[in-house]
Amino acid sequence: MDEDDRMMGLTLATIFGLGLALIDRFVIDLPDQVTLAGLVIAYLAGGVPAAWEALAELFGKFRLDIDLLMVIAALAAAQVGAALEGTVLLALFSLSGTLEHRAMGKARRAVEALMALRPETALRLDADGMVSEVAVAELAVGDRLVLRPGARVPVDGRVVDGAGEVDESTITGEAEPVAKVAGALVHEATVNLHGVLVMHVTKTLAESTVARMILLVTQAQAMKAPSERFSEWFGARYTVAVLVGSVAVYAVLLWLGWSQPDALYRAATVLVAASPCAVVISVPAAILSALSASARGGVLFKGGAAIETLATVRAYAFDKTGTLTTGRAEVGAIVAADGQSEAEVLRLLAGIESHSEHHIAAAVLRAAQDRGVTPAPVTEVQAAPSEGITGRDAAGQIWAGNERMLARMGARAEGAAFDALRRESQTLVYLGRGAQVIGAVAVADTPRASAKAGIAALRAAGAQDIVMMTGDRRTVALRIGTGLGLREDEIHAGLLPEDKVRLVDALAAKGAVAFVGDGVNDAAALARADVGIAMGMAGSEVALQAAEVALLSEDLSRLALAHQLARRTSRIIRQNLGFAIGAMLVLVTGGLFFELPLPVAVIGHEGGTLLVVLNGLRLLRDPIRVS
Ligand code: ADP
Ligand code: MG
Repeated sequence: MDEDDRMMGLTLATIFGLGLALIDRFVIDLPDQVTLAGLVIAYLAGGVPAAWEALAELFGKFRLDIDLLMVIAALAAAQVGAALEGTVLLALFSLSGTLEHRAMGKARRAVEALMALRPETALRLDADGMVSEVAVAELAVGDRLVLRPGARVPVDGRVVDGAGEVDESTITGEAEPVAKVAGALVHEATVNLHGVLVMHVTKTLAESTVARMILLVTQAQAMKAPSERFSEWFGARYTVAVLVGSVAVYAVLLWLGWSQPDALYRAATVLVAASPCAVVISVPAAILSALSASARGGVLFKGGAAIETLATVRAYAFDKTGTLTTGRAEVGAIVAADGQSEAEVLRLLAGIESHSEHHIAAAVLRAAQDRGVTPAPVTEVQAAPSEGITGRDAAGQIWAGNERMLARMGARAEGAAFDALRRESQTLVYLGRGAQVIGAVAVADTPRASAKAGIAALRAAGAQDIVMMTGDRRTVALRIGTGLGLREDEIHAGLLPEDKVRLVDALAAKGAVAFVGDGVNDAAALARADVGIAMGMAGSEVALQAAEVALLSEDLSRLALAHQLARRTSRIIRQNLGFAIGAMLVLVTGGLFFELPLPVAVIGHEGGTLLVVLNGLRLLRDPIRVS
């Protein structure tokens, strides 16, 4: 029996006891022993666990818990002959605690469910062509696995043989199956639908995408939302104040000549009325529900703080390559300088790019493979973010990169063929040795299918500034950007990583900024932005680390939905806090200065707590889902 069931059992027992007492009072006179048994059951089931926890807090961590207030109030009620009211208090208290626990558990489970989806074993294809079943934890990079129809992918890898469709909804939330042929990436915890696929393991269990993200997200749970911290801080201080205040009320009333039971009754009423249960629960109930709803839609927040900040974001800045575009670029034209062959250009370029994680590198390698070109051996490779890459081959230093790199090397790419290449608005990669250019390739970068609609949806959701920032050249940036509905002044090209940071800074002067990116060259901007959003599946590890939000889904329209969810969440938090504090003020005033009856204080207080929890749980019903 898990924690949730145990709590629910205790709550039901408390409510049962309360039921007996209520029947006795309002319906028919039950035998006294039965009524008494009901009250005892309710006090034990509802009060003992709370008392136990409160005492553990008190003596373990020297912290006063609100649970303690509730238990004291219930005991005081019994003492003044209002055991029925005490029972109502315990029953409602127990119920709201159980509901809250469920809500919190749901959020955690949404993420943990991803873990549970991983199969225990995999079918490994050995060198002799035999298939054997091995534990997933034993898989090593390079192993070949057979995925039968209906099988879950055990770790991240690449398809090497076969064709079929994979259901990636477990991680991206997208119902539409994704076609996979040789060369395609497959991710842990997704489901192979019909075909038989052979995959090559590229990441071990511990490094696989989902495991990594879960780790990042769970570690980051410590990043509490500001309002969450407020309600905790408030709860801790206020509990002491309420306890002291109630004792003071009791003492003053006795001093004023009240009878002892009357004074105790009044003090208990004030205690119940003033207890801050609703204030303390209001924020986590909303935040956790929102975390859970967004996780189910493929948007992982590293903690509540990111949700609250996202709600205030007024500007979105997007990286181009790999973020607004697919990250599956294709090599088009290849130009060789005089005296060089296209095959040689591709051979050297593939050699140097085989050390890069950039999308351009992957495109070059695919082109080399398609044309049967074996990459040249290249060593001493160094990446120059947003410029290119340098290295050394048998003949000496070589480099590949954009115009910036070309200029840095003092090289010039002249001639009709290069001019023609530059006129196409595609990403260009020059290859050279010192000041001599060996050749160049054009790489076609295509926008993601969801990018245009995603940007439009963000504008509709109230984003005031949307800009694109890229290290690529302006012609390409303009073609892609205007195609996505951006204005020319919203498109920034030819940027170095530090330029992206500077532009984010400039935007930040006007309000909160979110930066969406995927690459190593985006890490600084992701960290600088108020909310960094990393493309989870295709993005680099560095980007993921620097960001506060990971988009598991490649569908950019999720961003607008996440934005709206964040705003709804902060609205609900404000409602909850306002309501909880307001209700408390009314009840306390009633308890202190008017003859507020204890049952009304109990129902007002616990009913308020319940409402606040339910209001937060509303967010659970809105998973970020497009269709
Ligand atoms: P974005 O900011 O749009 O993601 P990047 O900053 O990653 O683009 O890349 C900007 C430009 O730098 C590319 O268009 C390319 O010309 C050059 N570049 C970056 N990395 C490489 C590489 N590994 N090989 C060749 N060119 C590269
Ligand atoms: Mg990029």
